[in-house]
Amino acid sequence: MLGILARERSCGGSGGVTGGAAFSGPSSEDVRASDPRTGGEGRWHAGRVPELPEVETVRRGLEPLVVGRRIVDGWGHPSAKFAAARDAVGPRVEAVGRRGKYLLVDLDDRRQLVVHLGMTGQLRLRSGPDVDPYVRAWWALDDGGVLELRDVRRFGRVAVVPAEEWAALPTLAAQGPEPWDPELDDDGLWRRLRRSRVHVKTQLLSQRPIAGVGNIYADEALWRAGIHPARRTVTKAQAARLLAELRTVLEHGIANGGTTLRDYRTVDGGEGRNQLELGCYGRAGLPCLRCGTELRRIVLDARGTTLCPTCQPRR
Ligand code: ZN
Repeated sequence: MLGILARERSCGGSGGVTGGAAFSGPSSEDVRASDPRTGGEGRWHAGRVPELPEVETVRRGLEPLVVGRRIVDGWGHPSAKFAAARDAVGPRVEAVGRRGKYLLVDLDDRRQLVVHLGMTGQLRLRSGPDVDPYVRAWWALDDGGVLELRDVRRFGRVAVVPAEEWAALPTLAAQGPEPWDPELDDDGLWRRLRRSRVHVKTQLLSQRPIAGVGNIYADEALWRAGIHPARRTVTKAQAARLLAELRTVLEHGIANGGTTLRDYRTVDGGEGRNQLELGCYGRAGLPCLRCGTELRRIVLDARGTTLCPTCQPRR
């Protein structure tokens, strides 16, 4: 088990979130990824990189750069997605946590800065003059550094909320447990999957059974577990296998610094290495590494999905 969940908190909170409006606006991606069968919570289902391993890698990179620093200035693009960035000016950064695919920056005035990287968001320390048109928000630190959120396609989001009230943000509230939550066991995942008749992969992308899994790591885990992504029910044994493989692929993803397909970068601008080790995702047409059968690509609930017809029987 990885010791990355020191910042993990209960997700059962509720109450008045004053900075949450930015998290409820639709976008073209939201509409496209929305699926009524997932219960109408589709707008953050996009599930592309960055997924949990990428966000965790960013969190680890960010922590030593910003913890202890005071935010002395800030700016957010005037759109509802980013304008709240200004509200984080003043306090000192106490910690950088993560919940699913969300970064939770603890401020010392009992508030938290919540950042979602969306599809193309990159957090980095400014390396040159302020001329990048894709920077949507920035925060100046008291050591002269400037943290900036660059987001070409603007699917990212920023909010500032009272401490521990992030769970009331619409999409955070619906998230299942962290993959390494000690209270999430085989039976627990099985029960969570059993509640719905949605395709198992689509359920994973909904974040409801377990937080942080998107298209890449869902395809990888289902392939390793031998479960067809379009199954609507899984056995207890399959759920146990799936939980183990989800944890494995996410741990590998973190150990490899994330998966860089195009936009994802680490805080220092580097690329992850996990794309070099994917066994299923993106390998359609190539032989299965386990059985040699040609991997197939299907579209499942509007998401491209790679699977092995032999290792993952539909039945
Ligand atoms: Zn196979």
